[in-house]
Amino acid sequence: RREGDAGQADRALEILSSVFGYDSFRGDQRAIIEQVAAGGDAVVLMPTGGGKSLCYQIPALLREGTGIVVSPLIALMADQVAALEGVGIRAAYLNSTLELDEARAVEQQLLAGELDLLYMAPERLVLPRTQDLLRRAHLALFAIDEAHCVSQWGHDFRPDYLGLSVLAEAFPTVPRIALTATATEATHRELTERLQMQEAEHFVSSFDRPNIQYRIEPKASPREQLLRLITTEHEGESGIVYCLSRKSVEQTAEALVARGIPALPYHAGLDAAVRQDHQERFLRAEGLIIVATIAFGMGIDKPDVRFVAHLDLPKSIEGYYQETGRAGRDGQPSTAWMAYGLGDVVSQRKFIDTGEGSEQFKRNARSHLDAMLALCETVSCRRVQLLRYFGQDTEFTSCGNCDTCLSPPQTWDATVAAQKLLSALIRLDRERGQKFGSGQVIEVLLGRENTRSTQSRHHELSVWGIGEELSEKEWRTAIRQLLARGIVEAEGDYGVLIPGPQAGPVLRGESTVELAVDRAPQRSSRSGGR
Ligand code: ADP
Ligand code: ZN
Repeated sequence: RREGDAGQADRALEILSSVFGYDSFRGDQRAIIEQVAAGGDAVVLMPTGGGKSLCYQIPALLREGTGIVVSPLIALMADQVAALEGVGIRAAYLNSTLELDEARAVEQQLLAGELDLLYMAPERLVLPRTQDLLRRAHLALFAIDEAHCVSQWGHDFRPDYLGLSVLAEAFPTVPRIALTATATEATHRELTERLQMQEAEHFVSSFDRPNIQYRIEPKASPREQLLRLITTEHEGESGIVYCLSRKSVEQTAEALVARGIPALPYHAGLDAAVRQDHQERFLRAEGLIIVATIAFGMGIDKPDVRFVAHLDLPKSIEGYYQETGRAGRDGQPSTAWMAYGLGDVVSQRKFIDTGEGSEQFKRNARSHLDAMLALCETVSCRRVQLLRYFGQDTEFTSCGNCDTCLSPPQTWDATVAAQKLLSALIRLDRERGQKFGSGQVIEVLLGRENTRSTQSRHHELSVWGIGEELSEKEWRTAIRQLLARGIVEAEGDYGVLIPGPQAGPVLRGESTVELAVDRAPQRSSRSGGR
């Protein structure tokens, strides 16, 4: 059945242009398609928008039989299938939204060899009934999309993915291709192992998105900051604004509309029909802004999203990268902008500490958050740090297209300030048996009386008023950065501050602490280098 590599490659190119209407392959697409079309396995790490779909769709067309596509995104399957049918590909899906008779009809099509591609959710695939069905069908390949979901250490673990390990043994002659846009080295290793892809060829694209300008600024009045971003740089352009809660989604969308900026809310609390309508309007319209929780965006393919704004801190770098990656798929200059503050750190920690999940799960969530904080607080190039997180070294040390490159932050020696803060925490705990959130601790450092400090005779403590050289705002800025470095930690329901794992060396004077001076909310334009 094989025609030799040259023949395959020609046919792949032919399909690319006649079916999909493109004239050349991008990045590793050609090599991946050749590998899988020839019956080999492939592990593909490619950023969002890189063009992963063609990597399994074309081999499925080149090979005889049906390509089975495993995806957790049930909500998108109908659209994906419709898009394929639109270009003349025989596609279908099997998931829980189908009526029994509809599902039976699809199964019959599969057995009759009438399908090029069949999408299904992992929980469906691992059912004995489905396995039996697949054994009776003629299969071209298995494509495992969003393959990082198999990683228990990742940010998006789905237990059903573990069941996919059976494919290697159950279907040894069917090639498998695993694809993901979010892969640290650890996730890469884990998915290779769990999916039994040791024999596969690995294709790791660069995760750099050079047209995206990364900027993270201190949160002051986030809605005003967002407004400034839109009016000074992105007037009339499409963008996505991410907020953590449904309430802030609603309020932010209203605030934009009140200022004459077209915006629509999107979150899981809205009626499905409303959500669908808002999503479709966003996809079709130009210059519309969608304000959303992270429920929005999986599989969204709108090329001209000019900015992605975060008004709240994402839970992980993987999440941040995925969400910001929805900007600038067309390669044109785009902005990934975020406002972040001390409150974000405290509330995220609290969310983890008081949420459900095993100790292991929480430790994992904390380390994801810590990495995100480190990215927020870095004083060097954000792109370099982002790529290093994904295990990718860069040829540059300064990208010229992120805020820290465009206007390097000023730093100051905060060693003594950090020691004073730690001493205050220790004194309050030892001498009064008290732990406080940042607000009250700052009052102690500044020596400002309030009801609580009078009651507890804080003015008698040796640390009373020792931090007067900084303003309240400067202390908040410093505490935020010290949290990100693990020098202090926020704990429990109330986010009380305690010395963190990195506190020891600072207290003993063995390490110095260099902190950034908060820049004023930026007005930088898009004129920066690329
Ligand atoms: P991913 O799944 O990696 O996020 P997609 O497969 O959705 O990316 O592709 C992103 C966009 O790029 C889609 O609009 C797709 O049609 C387009 N695309 C993919 N490959 C090519 C190519 N070789 N030439 C032109 N456009 C392409
Ligand atoms: Zn940079």
